[in-house]
Amino acid sequence: MRGVGSRDPVLPGSAIGVLGSGQLGRMFAIAARRMGYRVHTLSPDEDTPTGQVADVEINAPYEDLDAVRKFASEVSVVTFEFENVPAATAAAAAECAPVRPSGHILHTTQHRLREKNFLSRAGLPVTPFRRVESIAGLEQAARELGLPAILKSADFGYDGKGQFRITNESEFEAAWQTVGGREAVLEAFINFECEISVVSARGMQGEFVHYGATENRHRNGILDISIAPARVESAVVREAVEIARSVLEKLDVVGVLCVEFFVCKDGRLLINELAPRPHNSGHFTFDANLTSQFEQQLRAACLLPLGDVTQFRPAAMANLLGDLWADGEPDWAAGVSVADVKLHLYGKLTPRPGRKMGHLTALSGTAEQALADANRARCMLSRIAS
Ligand code: AMP
Repeated sequence: MRGVGSRDPVLPGSAIGVLGSGQLGRMFAIAARRMGYRVHTLSPDEDTPTGQVADVEINAPYEDLDAVRKFASEVSVVTFEFENVPAATAAAAAECAPVRPSGHILHTTQHRLREKNFLSRAGLPVTPFRRVESIAGLEQAARELGLPAILKSADFGYDGKGQFRITNESEFEAAWQTVGGREAVLEAFINFECEISVVSARGMQGEFVHYGATENRHRNGILDISIAPARVESAVVREAVEIARSVLEKLDVVGVLCVEFFVCKDGRLLINELAPRPHNSGHFTFDANLTSQFEQQLRAACLLPLGDVTQFRPAAMANLLGDLWADGEPDWAAGVSVADVKLHLYGKLTPRPGRKMGHLTALSGTAEQALADANRARCMLSRIAS
């Protein structure tokens, strides 16, 4: 077994453990297997997107710490694709193998309040917020921030994933119920110009690489389309990248981290949230860049040099949600007939509305054309005439 504090590179041929078993782990496993690594995954689920392409799929609750220790003792390094694993799970894994990024990063980023406190103490620009612990506290926070505002559960792990946009005082009660009547964060509502994100990676020696800024459009709170590069001023991109660099340094990340931003009407940037792993807005890198965000996570976790991030062509990524299955199986043949569009499906067995089932990446000479191609291919998948 490798020493848990080992700083030796984990070389191809070794086994890597992934906590979590969704599409991020699947794409990580594809990148890792391509480079000759073996992949073990642990999650409470069976026949999972990651498990389908991993060498070993372990089906155990995250709270089963003996199973977690056994899983970690059979691999050379543990990483995660799902940041809401309990802190005790990461700690148990760390008894038996290095965990990268380390558990303290999970601890900060799996709780909105801790994350926002960390950002504001670090002097980084964050959406104005207040901690809320009761209805009376909510009323006070709303007086301070003004309405509209968004109430979000502090704990990302809360099943309801509750968020409520409050536009007037009569909605306090309903908002409080939506977040489960427990610790929450009230955020000022930002009337932003657009949303962007920066996916970047940091190695053990502090080396830093990034994929520039990606422009993100959401629908019903879920990422719908990403456009890379983002169509914003280059000064905005430079600032976003410098903020991302600062976040990774201050959190001492060894791995990949995504910073999501609101771009205000006056060009100011506010951090919305952090994800300490590859991110949906970086999926285009799988097809469009010399080194994908998933290979970068692998390289960082294995203490290998980070890879070249050169992007071959502008790209746009369109998510495929379970809604696309409403009228039966999508028309795959039509969807893949659009030149320079790549289809990714995650192997999920049950399509449900809002569930991320796959995505399309379009590459083109311009970001606008890539966006049009991604949209066109997605429409062609749909059996509803659009
Ligand atoms: P979240 O899960 O917190 O990232 O929120 C999902 C999406 O909801 C964001 O990407 C935004 O489109 C929107 N949103 C969240 N918070 C705010 C806010 N404070 N002001 C405006 N829009 C927001």
